[in-house]
Amino acid sequence: MPAFQTVRGMRDLIGEEAQIFITVISKARETSSLYGYKEVITPHVEPLELLSAKSGEEIRQRMFIFKDLGDRQVALRPEFTASIARLATTALKNEPKPLRIFSVGTVYRYDEPQRGRYREFWQSNYELMGSAKPEADAEIVLITNSLMQSLGLQGYAFKIGHIGVIRGILSQDGVDEKTQNAVLQRMDKKEYDAALKLVESEKCRAMLEGLLEIKGKDWQDTVKQIQSYVASYEKAKVATENLAEVLKLIAESANIPMTVEPAFARGLEYYTGMIFEIYIPQLDLALGGGGRYDKLIEAFGGGPTPAVGCAHGVDRVAIALQTQKTARSSQKEKKVAVLPITENMKSEALKIAQQLRAAGLTVEFEVMGRKMAKALEDADKRKVDFAVIVGERELKDGAVVLKDLANRQQSTVPIDKLAEKIKS
Ligand code: AMP
Repeated sequence: MPAFQTVRGMRDLIGEEAQIFITVISKARETSSLYGYKEVITPHVEPLELLSAKSGEEIRQRMFIFKDLGDRQVALRPEFTASIARLATTALKNEPKPLRIFSVGTVYRYDEPQRGRYREFWQSNYELMGSAKPEADAEIVLITNSLMQSLGLQGYAFKIGHIGVIRGILSQDGVDEKTQNAVLQRMDKKEYDAALKLVESEKCRAMLEGLLEIKGKDWQDTVKQIQSYVASYEKAKVATENLAEVLKLIAESANIPMTVEPAFARGLEYYTGMIFEIYIPQLDLALGGGGRYDKLIEAFGGGPTPAVGCAHGVDRVAIALQTQKTARSSQKEKKVAVLPITENMKSEALKIAQQLRAAGLTVEFEVMGRKMAKALEDADKRKVDFAVIVGERELKDGAVVLKDLANRQQSTVPIDKLAEKIKS
């Protein structure tokens, strides 16, 4: 039989790579608890109808869809927001607002595999449901900022816009919603010519072209430019005011590097307000993104529930950390090997191993029944820090031999002082 491979676009994570993922996931979890988010665990498989309702054509075409044996149309989740919105209209319906929900896990999209783009990838996801206020939008950006900071990423910057600006222009110039979605999808992919071709009105095309030119790092100055550019577009003006409020809160509460880009769009269709993405200079891929979606929960049968959220791509954050070589995998723990000298020392040795584990040390017990010299050689290869050698002679005095494998020194240590000695 040929050696099995993973399914195309899906990966095994082993060794250091797995460690980096674990670090990113635990930082994401720590960040969620710093901001008062409660973690939920939802199924990987959801009804197709739920997942396709509002995500947009782009995602709909890339879902892993199948019929289960009960003839139900289901799909692997391509993101978390639909599942959390489902919860907000069912199990969490009567919870006091706002709801702050965190989740982390794998999601699935039939993307073309390449570095940073997989068919199974991990996201850490934060949803804040029940507030229409700009401080809620600001909170989602601040969470992302806190996570990037806690990971030690350097030189990251936010790209921030507002979907209401483009939609405001398009709708006032008579572009229907379906065409708007198609335009936004192409703009998200930076296919600007294709996007403009979908717009019949010449005036509207010119407006969009002009909007694409506006971007800047000084938020106040850029907002002023947008305000005067859309002065005769009522809805776009309101959207710009809202964006300005969000930007003000962000800028005044933290030193967050950002570029304001009003023509920036995102692939998901359900956005209604502020949207953002985050980048580092070395990687031309968004590490995360999010935005406001005020109509989704209502569309799922809940009451009017404005909401805002974000998702970070763990796979890409891991690449960013490796690129910047700042991957701080969890502090290296001291590793101990417990080796019984003879067969009849096994029970005593196992008892000592348990005591060391109870004291918080990482302990590998010799399970291969090897002779001492072989076991020590193996411990060395596997970068074990200390060997605890359990022999009859020392045990009579309640002691064992502790060997420091880095400097090859050894001494006899009383068992009740062993954990302390290893840690010091
Ligand atoms: P989205 O759910 O589309 O808002 O994406 C949120 C984040 O997920 C992006 O910013 C990426 O970091 C990550 N992401 C999206 N698609 C992929 C993919 N195919 N492979 C790896 N990461 C992805």
